[in-house]
Amino acid sequence: MKAWVVERQKKIEEHPLVLKNLPVPEPGEHEIRVKVTHCGICRTDLHIAEGDIPLSKVPIVPGHEIVGIVDSLGTHANRFSVGDRVGVSWLNSTCGTCKYCLRGDENYCPSIKRTGYDVDGGFAEYVLVHEDYAFDLRNVSLSSENLAPIMCPGITGHYAFRISGIENGERLGMLGFGPTAYYILRVAKSMGMEVYISTRSPEHKKIAKKYGADWVGNIAQEDFPHKVDAFIYFPATGKLVERALANTVPAATLVLGAVTMSPIYIENYTANLWGRTVKTIYQVRRDYGAEFIKLADKLNLDIEKEIVSFEDVPNAMVRLKQGKIKGMVQVIKF
Ligand SMILES: [Zn+2]
Ligand SMILES: [Zn+2]
Repeated sequence: MKAWVVERQKKIEEHPLVLKNLPVPEPGEHEIRVKVTHCGICRTDLHIAEGDIPLSKVPIVPGHEIVGIVDSLGTHANRFSVGDRVGVSWLNSTCGTCKYCLRGDENYCPSIKRTGYDVDGGFAEYVLVHEDYAFDLRNVSLSSENLAPIMCPGITGHYAFRISGIENGERLGMLGFGPTAYYILRVAKSMGMEVYISTRSPEHKKIAKKYGADWVGNIAQEDFPHKVDAFIYFPATGKLVERALANTVPAATLVLGAVTMSPIYIENYTANLWGRTVKTIYQVRRDYGAEFIKLADKLNLDIEKEIVSFEDVPNAMVRLKQGKIKGMVQVIKF
């Protein structure tokens, strides 16, 4: 099968992705093989290719926003049939027996296997996944093009939204407006919340306004019109964390979405941190994922996207790095 492989991490302009012809993988006992029809390209794939995150498996096929058709079953796999549509996210499998798995915190499982990082991912014609960790898309009416980005920014956004503890009628603030914030905005507005977005990008400001943000600006320069009950913060710079906290009520929760972060300094503890709860998004959980897929289907959630051919993946990732993509996300169509 054709696959884009990272063997050596380097700047995306120096082509860390190499086209290889790999054997079609055989599913293990409880695995299914999925013929990939769509795979979203994520900023995490860029970090993996460029070396911002160390490689876990060498060589590795990136890609963890996968939609495809079940094509072969392991000897003990019986959840799906050949021909069923499924989704595959970052969460490829966990041990199922550790204390975190048993209490429903599978994202903290020390034996977690991540698609496109610990095991080969969706920048290839076929992927393997433990059958219990595939998302069931048989009764979902959203198109596969719209479902692929839901497999990462969609379900990650829902995770952040849920742990923020925000409730109907409350105010939500967000800093950074990528696809994850976009999905949160769509859901929050469907629930009648007031949403304030801080972003520097004029293009993102336009999209945030178009989809109903109640205030769009830049909290580096000005305050929100009101203090918010929850704040979801995406950038990898710690510089604005105190500014974000300063725009929250003392009972608020701040959720940090980044994987890496420059130092965070809090100068005024009493005014800006006292009372608040700070949480981070860590990996992905199936319960929030399945819940979000249902919700996205009900709301018919689409997203402005650039469709990328398999051959164009390396160039598409250069465009992603340069901020030159058309729409909010890129989706490879096989
Ligand atoms: Zn992702
Ligand atoms: Zn476990």
